[in-house]
Amino acid sequence: MAEYRACILFGAPGSGKGTQAKRLSEAYQIPHISTGDILRSEVRKASSLGKRVQDTMEAGHYVDDSLMLELIEKRFSEPDVEKGFILDGFPRTVEQEKGFQKVLNKRGLGLPSILYLKVEKERLVERLSGRLTCPSCGAIYHEAVNPPRAQENGGWLCDQCRGVELLKRPDDEEQTVRKRLEVFEQETTPLLRYYQEQGRLEELDGLRSVDEVFSLLRQRLEAA
Ligand code: AMP
Repeated sequence: MAEYRACILFGAPGSGKGTQAKRLSEAYQIPHISTGDILRSEVRKASSLGKRVQDTMEAGHYVDDSLMLELIEKRFSEPDVEKGFILDGFPRTVEQEKGFQKVLNKRGLGLPSILYLKVEKERLVERLSGRLTCPSCGAIYHEAVNPPRAQENGGWLCDQCRGVELLKRPDDEEQTVRKRLEVFEQETTPLLRYYQEQGRLEELDGLRSVDEVFSLLRQRLEAA
């Protein structure tokens, strides 16, 4: 039986959680659970959930805790989480963390590590406002720092999904980025303190290169 490896990648929008979560998920063959990705896919499908959350997301606000917990409980009823998981973008509030504990207990799953990718605010704005994502595979690029190889008619194309044009997320426009960072500071700082008080928060320098951060995360995850 493979080892159980579980972590919450904690950090502000743009701290690199999505990029790292993808790599960790491939390295350990455990699911990458991004609540932002799940919600965006509901919005694309125009499901009733998608319609309920679209405006909230585009304005950079948080979706209700009760709705988020419903979504997570559903995701954690799948068998794949028994091997572990990489959580990206959840929990974001103390209320969500408390509800999540109940979900873990109910399933008999062990406590995840809390790995915090710390990056200062202005760098986050730079990173997010140049971000490009592939609507098909979810790969993440940056116009200046990590551009894809090909361009066509002024648009960028995904390196992995040939011909698929990369998109700028509607909430990655600079004004919304600033709002999202403000919301993160206000709503998520209490959760950061909560983890600190419990002695569970492990801090990492999120400004290092993608490879360096990846190797630090692997060390922490394997030491847990
Ligand atoms: P993300 O891709 O993690 O930056 O999430 C994009 C948007 O989805 C956020 O700005 C929120 O509107 C919503 N969202 C994702 N995860 C959560 C969560 N745990 N709690 C509340 N809202 C969330």
